[in-house]
Amino acid sequence: MNTRAKRLIEEGRSFLLTTHIDPDGDAIGSVFAFAMALGTLGKEATVYLRDRIPYRYEFLPAPARVVHAVPEGKYDAIFVLDCGSLFRVGSGHDRIGAMAPIVNIDHHDTNDHFGTVNLVDPGASSTGEIIYRLLKSLKVKVDPDMAVNLYTAVFTDTGSLRYDNTSLEAFKICEEMVKAGVRPSWVAGMVYESHPKERFLLLGEVLCTLATYGERIAMARVTSEMFERTGTNREFSDGFVEFIKEIRGVEVAVLIREIDKQHHKISMRGKGAVDVAAVCNGFGGGGHRNAAGCRIEGTMEEAEEKILRALAPEGCTKDG
Ligand code: 5GP
Ligand code: MN
Repeated sequence: MNTRAKRLIEEGRSFLLTTHIDPDGDAIGSVFAFAMALGTLGKEATVYLRDRIPYRYEFLPAPARVVHAVPEGKYDAIFVLDCGSLFRVGSGHDRIGAMAPIVNIDHHDTNDHFGTVNLVDPGASSTGEIIYRLLKSLKVKVDPDMAVNLYTAVFTDTGSLRYDNTSLEAFKICEEMVKAGVRPSWVAGMVYESHPKERFLLLGEVLCTLATYGERIAMARVTSEMFERTGTNREFSDGFVEFIKEIRGVEVAVLIREIDKQHHKISMRGKGAVDVAAVCNGFGGGGHRNAAGCRIEGTMEEAEEKILRALAPEGCTKDG
């Protein structure tokens, strides 16, 4: 384990912890477990999340101090979790970057090593796995609340222990968390079977836009009008891209979400030879080989065209 990170923790007293915008289970689970662990070491830990906690992760036990505006305090170090670049923290990332030494803890393939200390391991299944190792080296006893957070981090980032990053280590951590008190069926029920009905009204609309190209690329749209009609917002479409990846023969699944008429958010998933992190990196984004994202400027049609050109430079046609 990185001795500089360990020393910063042992010698410091007050820490700020943060993660990326649109946080997922790994982001929230990791940051919460780490904040709780620092508490047991007698340290002060404040968690800054730009966004509110998505409904499906509201069941996670939260540490004492979670704020949604960059706090003014003085910190001995800032821990930035599950972010390939500092700007992924969202508004306030520039202020955070100037506050104290930054410890960058991440597992993305595209990480620009923005930290003073970088604990980056693309071989780790999740950021939760790196936090688990850090807690071991700090001799923290994982209590049931930390265990639920770490289990959820590993479980969700491996697609319920199904994706390529599902390693022996991931299983071992899950085993240990179950021994520490986690009930897997309860976590799975909270994450995957507790959606508001509106999610499925939205899914119906999104699936009506589904198209495939050369039977290898699947693409669907989410527009602001769909959110309005179904009384939903962007957190309700989380995971839709994984559904369209399930189509036989599809190597790349793409979900394009309208931010406004001139800006679109891309979620991309791969299950073949295509490195979607590299494709998204070409648009200023990044992620993992099989799961990545980026933002594209332009209308929905322009965004679609740009993506198709990047995925199939030789050209492709829409399947009938
Ligand atoms: P999602 O499609 O679920 O939003 O993101 C998939 C993966 O790509 C996640 O690991 C996420 O952190 C990463 N990712 C999504 N959008 C961006 C982006 O704009 N920039 C970078 N660097 N990574 C992103
Ligand atoms: Mn992650």
